[in-house]
Amino acid sequence: MRTAICPGSFDPITLGHLNIIRRTARIFDKVVVLVMYNASKPSPMFTLEERVDQIGRVVARFGNVTVEAHDGLLAEYARKFDEPVIVKGLRASTDFENEFQMAQINKSINPALETMFLTSSEKYTFLSSSMVRELASYGADLSEFVPFEVIEEVERKARQRGR
Ligand code: ADP
Repeated sequence: MRTAICPGSFDPITLGHLNIIRRTARIFDKVVVLVMYNASKPSPMFTLEERVDQIGRVVARFGNVTVEAHDGLLAEYARKFDEPVIVKGLRASTDFENEFQMAQINKSINPALETMFLTSSEKYTFLSSSMVRELASYGADLSEFVPFEVIEEVERKARQRGR
């Protein structure tokens, strides 16, 4: 049984993330979407618990995908699996440098850990959670960017936060 871990901050989950999760779920027996705290993104739109709840509703459509939160090192979390594989999406060359470095560091902490990359679908190459937050702050239509299960919450939170 081979498990893939799809880590990220998912603040909020976008259709770009969902595209990577769906494709990973076709390749691996099981997928864990791992919601992580990101110190370089200090004031998140949603709490870890809110994000786990949102993603749980979105991935309920797949039979082999679960969601967990982890407030620590990814390489340490991965120790609970025999042959862990991290699957990440690559949008453009701008993602590469950072992802390459993270894959190397993770492997040095946990040598059993492999990292694989799926290239973003063309449609989602320019989509990011930060772009969604920005669009939401202007009251834009999010239906092309965010899974329908979470659109209302993103809109509500954006109204509360203001611009
Ligand atoms: P972001 O970089 O948007 O804040 P995350 O930290 O939540 O997103 O990203 C988690 C993973 O999802 C990363 O591997 C990232 O490259 C990937 N990802 C994010 N948006 C997309 C997208 N539009 N297409 C493909 N992969 C994506």
